[in-house]
Amino acid sequence: MPAILLSIGDELTLGQTVDTNAAWLAEHLSALGIACLEHRTVPDDLDVIAAAIQQCAERAGTLIITGGLGPTDDDLTRPALAKAMGAELIEDPASVEHISAYFRARGREMPDRTRVQATPPQTSTMIENTRGTAPGIRASLGGCDIFVTPGVPREMKAMYERDIEPAIRQSADQYSGVTRTILTAKINTFGSGESDIAEQLGNLMARDRNPLVGTTVSNGYVSVRVRSEHADPQQAETMLAVTMKQVRDKVGPLAFGHDDETLQQVVIDRLRGSRKTITTAESCTGGLIAGMLTDVPGSSAAVLGGWVTYANEMKTRYLGVCSELIEQHGAVSAPVVEAMARGALKQSGADFALSTSGVAGPGGGTDAKPVGTVWIGLAWREGGAVNAHRFFTNLAGDRATIRDRSAKCALQLLRLQLMGQDVEHVKWATRA
Ligand code: ATP
Repeated sequence: MPAILLSIGDELTLGQTVDTNAAWLAEHLSALGIACLEHRTVPDDLDVIAAAIQQCAERAGTLIITGGLGPTDDDLTRPALAKAMGAELIEDPASVEHISAYFRARGREMPDRTRVQATPPQTSTMIENTRGTAPGIRASLGGCDIFVTPGVPREMKAMYERDIEPAIRQSADQYSGVTRTILTAKINTFGSGESDIAEQLGNLMARDRNPLVGTTVSNGYVSVRVRSEHADPQQAETMLAVTMKQVRDKVGPLAFGHDDETLQQVVIDRLRGSRKTITTAESCTGGLIAGMLTDVPGSSAAVLGGWVTYANEMKTRYLGVCSELIEQHGAVSAPVVEAMARGALKQSGADFALSTSGVAGPGGGTDAKPVGTVWIGLAWREGGAVNAHRFFTNLAGDRATIRDRSAKCALQLLRLQLMGQDVEHVKWATRA
């Protein structure tokens, strides 16, 4: 049976708050194999909310409502639900006690008006709120299971994971007569577009396949999602592992990690694993690479530090880049970015150095070097010598996007180098 998500609040309909609850819930429901018929948003108006609840309950097997459970006069979800159900609001003593215990634990008295949160419609039950005061509500209207949670995302998520998802799973199994196991996993890639990845995956992405394989794009990363659904848990696990291997084989070295693993985390793990250190010399990325690397807990074992050398004079003074080289080729050039990386390696004593120099825009582009032209340098020690690569990228997008993708390109190129893989895999960067 499909679901409907109903978000309540003036701040949502006025555009002051973005409805992240619906996106999060839809993603979690679809992982259960439950389709969302509709995402609906209504303001803090009792009659409008009551009518929306009735209409949604007629069409959906599951209705999840978020928001409007607080203690103030504009929190109308409880009375609206009672109206839609034709029920009275009745105080739930266990919930009153739970809310007053919440305040006692913080050395405070329960304010009188908070008590109203413990009055659900008759015949409904309360869902414990482990992160705040307003309990959730579980109710039934016609054939529709209704779950109501507070609007605050962290309270909603805790309630969904602890109580609502298990209840939805149980009724979905009862409805279909089968118990299913749904396992999901994700492989993250960087350095190629979504359509290229889709082409590499070929018929692994057939819509009638189980495990089902799909792609999503976020901030330049393309993630391949795999969803395995079987009655037998062991079979679900085996089929997930088989498909994950097939995906990895097809996508190749651009796949840098699984699930929530980040590119910078993988790079730091590799550096630490081989007891190597890194330094950075950044121009157009202005410290983004250093920032991403030092975001990773434990990065101090691998990151020595770095330079943001925006002005040519800084490149010369701190990295030893010859001013003649800059005059001859321009700061955005292969020789200069290589000299920056070599200089940073020498000054820091690190094993690897990454450098960037580019035109992030919106101004500053020329015919020869249009906005989006970025050079990335990578220098490293090998035996007693220092080697270096220079990469050219021509990135599209606004200033923030060009800077962000440049930093990620640099990290992916370093990762491939650390793995002994061919850097030519990165479609967005070519070696010069
Ligand atoms: P409380 O008891 O904390 O007042 P509530 O159920 O009354 O909970 P709301 O007042 O509707 O919740 O929302 C509280 C806050 O939660 C909002 O100010 C907003 O920041 C956030 N919020 C509400 N709904 C959403 C939503 N759909 N997506 C993202 N954030 C939301």
